[in-house]
Amino acid sequence: MDPADFRRHGHALVEWIADYLANAERYPVLPKVQPGDVRRMLPAEAPERGESFESTIADFERVLVPALTHWNHPGFFGYFAITASGPGVLAEFLSAALNQQAMLWRTSPAATELEEVSLGWLRSLMGLPDSFEGVIYDTASISTLHALAAAREQAIPRVRELGMAGRSDVGPMRVYCSEHAHSSVDKAVLLLGLGHRGLRKIPVDDEFRMQPSALADAIREDREAGITPLAVVATVGTTSTTSLDPVRPISDICQREGLWLHVDAAYAGVTAIIPEYRGRFDGWQDADSIVVNPHKWLFTPFDLSAFYCRRMDIVRRTFSLVPDYLVSAEGSRGVHNLMDTGVQLGRRFRSLKLWMVLRHFGADGIRTAIAEHIRLAQLFSSWVDADPDFERLAPVPFSVVCFRAKPRSGVPEAELDAFNERLLEAVNGTGEVFLSHTRLNGMFVLRLAVGHLRTTEQHVARAWGLLRQDITSH
Ligand SMILES: *Cc1c(COP(=O)(O)O)cnc(C)c1O
Repeated sequence: MDPADFRRHGHALVEWIADYLANAERYPVLPKVQPGDVRRMLPAEAPERGESFESTIADFERVLVPALTHWNHPGFFGYFAITASGPGVLAEFLSAALNQQAMLWRTSPAATELEEVSLGWLRSLMGLPDSFEGVIYDTASISTLHALAAAREQAIPRVRELGMAGRSDVGPMRVYCSEHAHSSVDKAVLLLGLGHRGLRKIPVDDEFRMQPSALADAIREDREAGITPLAVVATVGTTSTTSLDPVRPISDICQREGLWLHVDAAYAGVTAIIPEYRGRFDGWQDADSIVVNPHKWLFTPFDLSAFYCRRMDIVRRTFSLVPDYLVSAEGSRGVHNLMDTGVQLGRRFRSLKLWMVLRHFGADGIRTAIAEHIRLAQLFSSWVDADPDFERLAPVPFSVVCFRAKPRSGVPEAELDAFNERLLEAVNGTGEVFLSHTRLNGMFVLRLAVGHLRTTEQHVARAWGLLRQDITSH
C-alpha cells in the first residue's frame, strides 16, 4: 500500500470509526445472525492475487458489521459493559503502526519505560504503595495465572528444575477462593498441574462474600490431612454479583499462614480511584499480587490487564530464561526486559493506550464517569426495589444489578426461571438493549451492568421500560 493510498484509506476509516462511535445506537445491540452465516458468506480460500482495499472494506460492511455484537452500543448492559474511548482507539491505531515488540528494553525503550510509568500512575491513583511493581498482560486470566505460578514457585522447593510429578517430597497442594471467584482461577490451577482438586472453593455468606472463618477452617483441615496450602485468591467485585470478599481478614489469615494472597479486582479495582470507594479494598495493600483490568472499566480498548506484584522477583525467577541471542548489555544495568516478567516473549505496546486514556480523561474525568455509572445502576436498582413485580437478588455495591421478575399475578416458583429466561430473550430481541444473566442460589437471574461512556439515564430507563412493558403485557 503506497503512502497516498494509505492516506486515503486511513482518512476514510477514521471517518467510518467516528461515525460508528457516535451512532452505535443505529445497530441492534445483538446481531440477528445464525451460527455459520458469516462463514458461508466468505470464500473458503485466501485470494491468490491481492484485492483492492475498497473491496475488502465493502465486505467488512456487508458481511462482518451485521454480525457484530455492539459492545459500544449505549444499551449494552451485558457481562461487564465496556467502552472503547476515542483516545484508546487512536492509541491502538498508532501502536499498530509503530509495531513495537517490547521483549527487551532495547527492542523498545519507549514501550518498556512507558509501561512502568503508566502503571505507576494507575497504581498511585488507586492508592497502592509503590512496593507494587506493575506489568501489563493481555487479560486478568493470564494475570492470575502468573500470580499462582509465582505462588507455586515460592512454595515448592526447586519446582522450576524438578517439576512436581514423581516427587516423594511434594504432596497434594491447595489454592483457595470463594465459590463466586472467576473461572480463570480454576483454569490457572489446571494449567499449573495442581489438578482441579487443588482448588478449594470457600462458602460465601448471604451477600456472596467469602467467609474468612470458613477459609481458616479449610486451611487447618487441609494441613491436618497433609495437604499443603499455597495461595488464596480474594475477589473484590465478583463476576456474577460484584460482591466483595473481605480482604482485610483474608489478608490476616494469609500472613499468619504464610500464603500468597492474590486479589482479583479485574472489574472493580478502578473504583479505588474514587476516595469514598477506596476503603472497600482495605487489606489489598498487603496482598502479594493484584489484578485490575483497565479494559473493563477504564475506557481502554480490549485488551489490557494491569498486574501488580510485591514479589515480581519471584515472577521473574519463575519465568526468566534468556537465550544467548537475547542477552543484552542493559540487562546488567538494572533495566527490566519485559520478556522476563512472564510467559510470553513478544509483547505489544499496550501501555500507549493506557497512557493516552489517563491523560485524556484525567483522574477527575475518570472519577466522574465511574461515579455516574454507579449512580445509574443504583437508580435502576431503586426501580427494581420499588416494583412489586420484581425482586433484587444481590446487593449493588458497584454498577451491576442482579434481579428477576416475580409478577404479583403469581407465577409459580418452579416456573420463574423459564419466565425470566423468556423475558430476557424478549427484551434482548428488541435490539435496543442487551442484558445477560447468571444463576444465584439455583435461580435464573437477570443482570444489568452499566459501564459505558455513552450510556445515559435515558438508556437505563429504556431497559427498565422494556422489562416492565413485557411483563405487564403477559
Ligand atoms: C472479567 C473477570 C475476569 C476475567 O477477565 P479477562 O481479562 O477476560 O481474563 C477475572 N476475574 C474477574 C473478577 C472478572 O470480572
